[in-house]
Amino acid sequence: MTDKFDLVVIGGGSGGVRAARLAAGYGAKVAVIEEYRVGGTCVIRGCVPKKLFVYASRFADMFDVAASFGWSVEAGFDWPTLVANKDKEIARLEAAYVAALEKPGAEVIRDRGILLDGNRVQLAASGRVLEAGTILIATGGHPFIPDIPGAELGFTSNEAFHLQQLPRSILIEGGGYIAAEFATIFAGLGVDTTIVYRGDCVLRGFDEDMRQGMSAGLQARGIRLIYATQVRSLRRSGSDILVSFSDEVEAPFGAVMFATGRRPNVEGYGLEAAGVDLTEDGFIAVDKYSRTSNPSIYAVGDVTGRSALTPVAIREGAAFAETVFNNNPTAVDHSLIGTAVFAEPEVASIGLTEAEAATHGDIDVYIARFRPMINTLSDRSERMVTKLITAAGGGRVMGCHVLGPGAAEIIQLVTVPMTMGATKADFDRAVAMHPTAAEELVTFRAPTHRYRGGVKL
Ligand code: NDP
Repeated sequence: MTDKFDLVVIGGGSGGVRAARLAAGYGAKVAVIEEYRVGGTCVIRGCVPKKLFVYASRFADMFDVAASFGWSVEAGFDWPTLVANKDKEIARLEAAYVAALEKPGAEVIRDRGILLDGNRVQLAASGRVLEAGTILIATGGHPFIPDIPGAELGFTSNEAFHLQQLPRSILIEGGGYIAAEFATIFAGLGVDTTIVYRGDCVLRGFDEDMRQGMSAGLQARGIRLIYATQVRSLRRSGSDILVSFSDEVEAPFGAVMFATGRRPNVEGYGLEAAGVDLTEDGFIAVDKYSRTSNPSIYAVGDVTGRSALTPVAIREGAAFAETVFNNNPTAVDHSLIGTAVFAEPEVASIGLTEAEAATHGDIDVYIARFRPMINTLSDRSERMVTKLITAAGGGRVMGCHVLGPGAAEIIQLVTVPMTMGATKADFDRAVAMHPTAAEELVTFRAPTHRYRGGVKL
């Protein structure tokens, strides 16, 4: 075992693993240092287990409409079974990630890597020093917990995947992806669920129709939403946690979860010693090729703060390997990235929101609101929303937003024409598939409303 490598990757998550695999495939001698589990946030305690939990929670909606199709369902739910089956699947995926690294010859080292300088990394536990032609930092991020009294009584998404039992009730603080998704999970699994958010509507940054639809959809599933309020402190009260809110109200909950954002993992890796600069927001500063202020050190993924999404980290890792180990300088285009919130209702978007597009010249907005077909035999009145925003007069599609069943699957495919620069006329040329929800996107006739000179008509 040599201590000299062409590439040493610190962090075995989505970005680091992709970079390591490709670099090893190009013939580089690669080591990947991971102190927790290979797979990173996405595989171990993020996207993958989250989506499995979302699937579990969605049976509630299905049981709700089952009777309208003639079914009678007597449902029971066992949390330990779900957690055990999820753990089995995550262990399988982790093993697959390790195998995918080892197959092209990368060495996987279970330790913490600390930079000594631009070409040396020391392992915290073993003391071993690795020499590297190039170092890649892909250390990801961690949940942020507000600094309030009693914060240690709450937990984050990290712990939510391993709860011994479901609480009787839960308060989730935050209004972003994780708050909406975990509220959906807990409520769907029968937990009395409340979201408290400091803003005036969940999903800040998303299109207003998506935000309002999500807010209404969460409430329709029995989730209480408390807006313009923050948690001030937590204290134990018997088996409950007593929460004090910023409006002076106090209330007991079975559990409290913080979904108050994530921070980059930049502490304790010797970044300063190696001359790796951070941005004002505390992320690792990189150029378009993911190179840091030290020319032999690169960084990809959440730690760089460009877009905290798994596929983006994978893209950045691949572009890094192309650039450095395949003599093919490749920059990732971060300008048009689709995103989905796997809550109930599901929301997915790509491109500009209506408010953003309205500042980019004259636009037309097409909106369809309709009951998803699966609800039509029941008394469920929730509407699906599909929305297309185009340059005025059938021009380029600038934004597409969907709320409802299958939203993420629909938007994933819309990313293709939008990346190609499709116009409304291109969408119109596509023949609809019926009956689907996505057909609404290719059958819009007149705009729902228009903006001319920045004024809504
Ligand atoms: P988000 O940034 O989406 O949301 C964080 C929320 O916490 C915001 O509503 C924010 O409020 C609020 N908040 C921040 N600080 C405080 C504070 N001190 N007190 C009270 N509230 C606070 O972060 P998440 O943690 O939900 O997710 C992190 C990131 O991970 C996402 O942005 C996304 O990139 C990624 N992710 C992607 C998923 C997907 O693709 N489906 C799923 C989960 C995560 P405000 O709006 O006012 O800033």
